[in-house]
Amino acid sequence: MTEAVQVVLATHNEHKVLELRRILGPDLGPIELVAYDGPEPVEDGETFEENALIKARAAARHTGLPAIADDSGIAVDALGGAPGIHSARYAGTRRSEDNVALLLERLRGVEDRRAQFVCAAAAVLPGGTEHVVRAEWPGRVLEAPAGSGGFGYDPVFRPDEVEVSAAELTPEQKDALSHRRRAFSALLPWLHAHLS
Ligand code: IMP
Repeated sequence: MTEAVQVVLATHNEHKVLELRRILGPDLGPIELVAYDGPEPVEDGETFEENALIKARAAARHTGLPAIADDSGIAVDALGGAPGIHSARYAGTRRSEDNVALLLERLRGVEDRRAQFVCAAAAVLPGGTEHVVRAEWPGRVLEAPAGSGGFGYDPVFRPDEVEVSAAELTPEQKDALSHRRRAFSALLPWLHAHLS
């Protein structure tokens, strides 16, 4: 693959486009990531992988371009993997502060605080060929929020590799470790091989 090839990123969230351009950066090679502005599908899958594929399929179908998408969240062992695929709307409001407050409430007095951030990254080609990978970033849920960086559950998630919350990491430190980085780094070789 030598000529530039456009790949649509199936999200309306410009923040995610920027984050992935930052994470994948030079590894993209001739791939030019473009934002998606078509209709958003109903994410009614039962797993991160299914939801990532649903988003990527919809964008590939609508644009006629290869499409990539992700679906992510936090899975807490003591809660049987909840909030999992429901992470964004756990408290019913989509507000991160509410989601974090509910999570801390559910874990009050719970000793086993093991959790993973999970990211499924999917690629769908216009011909229908598709691939999905899943990556996890293991850690623990803190007793109280710490730090002001990042987003979502970052202030209450302490990754195993560090002694601080994900919200206390710089964007570069988080990018180097995160579930999103791991998933897309695993997806990229497949994409390069199949776009040639
Ligand atoms: P989605 O993949 O955009 O549907 O995001 C799902 C939800 O999971 C987000 O709204 C956040 O609440 C949570 N989440 C996913 N990735 C992260 C992360 O890197 N840090 C904190 N929260 C995250």
